[in-house]
Amino acid sequence: MILIDQTAPAAGLAPETASADALAADALARRLDGEIGTHEKLEDRIRIIKDAIPGRVAFSSSLGIEDQAVTHAIATTGAGIDIFTLDTGRHFSETYDTLFETEGRYGTKIRVMYPDAKEVEELVDSDGIYGFRYSVESRKACCDIRKVRPLNRALAGASGWITGLRREQSQGRAHVPFATYDPVQNLIKLNPIADWSLGQLESYIAANKIPINALHAQGFPSIGCQPCTRAIQPGEDIRAGRWWWENENGKECGLHSRNRPAAN
Ligand code: SF4
Repeated sequence: MILIDQTAPAAGLAPETASADALAADALARRLDGEIGTHEKLEDRIRIIKDAIPGRVAFSSSLGIEDQAVTHAIATTGAGIDIFTLDTGRHFSETYDTLFETEGRYGTKIRVMYPDAKEVEELVDSDGIYGFRYSVESRKACCDIRKVRPLNRALAGASGWITGLRREQSQGRAHVPFATYDPVQNLIKLNPIADWSLGQLESYIAANKIPINALHAQGFPSIGCQPCTRAIQPGEDIRAGRWWWENENGKECGLHSRNRPAAN
């Protein structure tokens, strides 16, 4: 992967050990991190991402409200970004309805990635159908097989990875940058709505009549797998309904941790 602009020093990488491509990607990520937020419109942010990054840019959509906004901007700008979603096999039926409705609305196919069937069979054989309830390790193993590994396969060879992360979503996401170089995947991770408030997001959804998961109106601000997601009460943290039986610290599935395992 050849990336542009090697003029700026790479803050996050050791120049003596990093490759020239990695240093270039790191420099480009830092330039985009400063530039994306200067554009108010999401469509403009998507355009500068696509224009700046050579090679394939992929967007991982969970089909949640944030990602539906990003899908809308990608579809309406015709930016040629690869949109995919991860079917863990444990989703709500409303999530599949959202996938169907979104493809119809935008006349586009969303690539669906599945976990390896043998790995799922071995996991369930070992831990049981609700094994993820019994220990954090089992839960992480389930997320790894059903989410992280398919994600890594989907991102293999990509130069850029767009997400719908917002800083407001949780304390753990409070410092999400607009762009950063991911040395594990050797790509630039981009979060074009990192600075959006929930109010901004909902206004964008309403103004553009974007289809969203029906569960959002039933107390589910964050929607993951059905057995691991519940509705929240007024005043609760946005992600309080995810893996609610676990300690608040580290309630992530591994998709957005910088040191997640490489693709299998
Ligand atoms: S969210 Fe729950 S069901 Fe889904 S992959 Fe993670 S542990 Fe498994």
